[in-house]
Amino acid sequence: MYDVGTGKVCQCSECEYDFLNELLQSENLDMAINKNASKYGDMFIDEISNLIEGIKTHHLLCAEKLKKFERKEKIVLEKAETDLQQITLELTECCNLACRYCIYGEENSDFREFGNRVMSWNVAKAAVDYALAHSKRKIAITFYGGEPLLNFELLKQIVEYTLKNKDNKECTFSMTTNLTLLSKEIALYLLTIPQFSVVGSIDGNKEVHNQNRVYKNGKGSYNAAILGLKNIVEAFGERAKEKLY
Ligand code: SF4
Repeated sequence: MYDVGTGKVCQCSECEYDFLNELLQSENLDMAINKNASKYGDMFIDEISNLIEGIKTHHLLCAEKLKKFERKEKIVLEKAETDLQQITLELTECCNLACRYCIYGEENSDFREFGNRVMSWNVAKAAVDYALAHSKRKIAITFYGGEPLLNFELLKQIVEYTLKNKDNKECTFSMTTNLTLLSKEIALYLLTIPQFSVVGSIDGNKEVHNQNRVYKNGKGSYNAAILGLKNIVEAFGERAKEKLY
């Protein structure tokens, strides 16, 4: 089950999947429970209490229901099997900032909350293996969070594993970051990766940026973000110069 609001993919038993389908159609918890209870009996009651707890804890089914799916399911599944072009890895649920408009903040209940979970190497490796096995010539790997640099060691491990196992595929990497943790050392490491792009978030000048992009104690993050930007520009600037000469 793919949940649009949280972006989570949940593995379901047949019984749970039927229940979720029922719930989406009836939009009434009691009706969905009754209908599936008669079909699956005791097994349903055991599984469903965990499922309902999970729905609440992880904010599933909160976002507005998708009314129209443009591409046919069959085409999407075929693409995922034979022509996968990009995977996005949420390296961590944590962030060192608490931006006032963040979709993971408490006031946005349609999305997941900040958590403490970090991606494990086993999950990352399985995702990369799948991507390499089910893509054609090119695959793009994107790092996301929370703030992905809070799990920089895993990012490095994934990049190195991918480059070692990609055979003749073209792999590109990108990362969306708040820039505040982007040290000189990290910038110089990223420079060694042949195709790595960085998407950084800065809202505007210091006054504008610090209105919303703040640490948990309310302090603005502008200075740290600009320092991170400077580090990456200086490192990548060296590469640009090398290409020129
Ligand atoms: S940096 Fe991004 S993830 Fe972190 S609080 Fe700000 S908007 Fe949210």
